Amino acid sequence: MSQFETVIGLEVHLQLSTKTKIFCSCANQYGCPPNTNVCPVCLGLPGSLPVLNHQALLYGITAGLALNAQINPFIKFDRKNYYYPDLPKGYQISQYDYPVAKDGFLKIKSGGQEKRIGIKRAHLEEDAGKLVHDNMFGCSLVDYNRTGTPLIEIVTEPDLRSPQEAYDYLNTLKLTLQYLGVSDCDMEKGSLRCDANVSIRPIGQSALGTKTELKNMNSFRAVKMALEYEVRRHEQTITSGGKIFQETLLWNDEKAMTITMRSKEQAHDYRYFPDPDLVPFAIDQSVIEQVRKQLPELPQDKFLRFLSQYGLSEYDANMLVADRGIADFFEAAVKEYPHAKKIANWMAGPVLMELNDRKISINELKITPQGLVALIARVEEGLVSNLAGKDVLTAMLNGGKTADEIIKDKGLAQVSDDSALFEIIDEVIAQNPTVVEQIKSGKPQAAGFLVGQAMKKSGGRANPKKLNELITRRIADV
Ligand code: ADP
Ligand code: MG
Ligand code: ZN
Repeated sequence: MSQFETVIGLEVHLQLSTKTKIFCSCANQYGCPPNTNVCPVCLGLPGSLPVLNHQALLYGITAGLALNAQINPFIKFDRKNYYYPDLPKGYQISQYDYPVAKDGFLKIKSGGQEKRIGIKRAHLEEDAGKLVHDNMFGCSLVDYNRTGTPLIEIVTEPDLRSPQEAYDYLNTLKLTLQYLGVSDCDMEKGSLRCDANVSIRPIGQSALGTKTELKNMNSFRAVKMALEYEVRRHEQTITSGGKIFQETLLWNDEKAMTITMRSKEQAHDYRYFPDPDLVPFAIDQSVIEQVRKQLPELPQDKFLRFLSQYGLSEYDANMLVADRGIADFFEAAVKEYPHAKKIANWMAGPVLMELNDRKISINELKITPQGLVALIARVEEGLVSNLAGKDVLTAMLNGGKTADEIIKDKGLAQVSDDSALFEIIDEVIAQNPTVVEQIKSGKPQAAGFLVGQAMKKSGGRANPKKLNELITRRIADV
């Protein structure tokens, strides 16, 4: 056992899904040709003036409330000064001492235990542009489309105690913000970025150890790996008599190690001061209450409701709640066909498998809740087998036809007609005398083998319940 305790705090930047940028009317859109979504404001040309996007502020309040935080009745924007080619103004507009939200918490589940992670603050700021390094010409190009994209930065207290907890926190945070609809939280597109601060201290000590800050992780898994690496490095350094220096390190995914980037700057290095172009804002209590009223049901509440209202297993409820679109689809389906558990099985099983295979979201699936329950009803009636039902689902997704059309076209309806089934059964009985003997001598479970054989002969179209019944009857007669 290690004699050290790990302490982690995360800073997560999320791009807000507003139509336009935070201080100008340029489109906030990913994937456009370089430098097409720009104007004098986001390029920082002299004489241009920023105007706060009201929707960005509302999203900030929304996120703050969902994180159980206090919304500051008075907020202001500050300039954070530094020089980098992706920052045309030479400063970033951010919030320093009056952020939109402070002192909240997020409940997470980690290792089967529930835990509250303190949220120190959440503030609004603008994103910088993007440098593209061109190896062929040996130069760097800059794309200012991202400049001025609204961001919310959510900073935790140093409450996380392991890389796994950090990982669980990130997943819960992402799901919560996706439910709110304030960000798509897509790390691949860079709309979610996470910096991780980590230190260790002897178990029992209350003072925090010296932290290092990790950047450049491009997945939650990478955050976890970088933290694991860094905790080991701290432990080895300290136990061998060395010292940890406060610095910023970059995670190198290929080498799976951290590399020093710079010694950590202090807040005064940024020369924060109030942005004179943006007046401070008073946030009216009525606005906060308005936003609070419109908060959607959050994932943890939905999970608990799914357990009690529909009697789902924790596994199924978890699978459904993990994506708001899937949860909504499920509930729409239950309205059409009141067999929640059956629908949950189909959704958590075959439907999710199709989504994963196709790498698409539920909204992109060519199937409606009504369409899915029509199929489930056919399986429940025994018209098609479970197995054939899955093929029907695949065909529905490929072609957009209804379940009934596909069952008819492919001749998938199960054979339940006694005389047709007896033909097959008699063949199977004739071919397997030893199994028949076993059944007769008091081993009814051996009938399963005969059912399987008969099923094969029917090309998977026999109704298995019916087969079982008829085989038992036939053998009793022989
Ligand atoms: P800075 O001024 O260096 O940015 P902050 O106090 O704003 O530091 O904290 C940044 C993040 O680092 C927060 O998430 C915080 O919880 C975390 N943090 C602060 N001190 C420590 C520490 N000693 N060990 C681990 N994390 C820490
Ligand atoms: Mg900080
Ligand atoms: Zn602009």
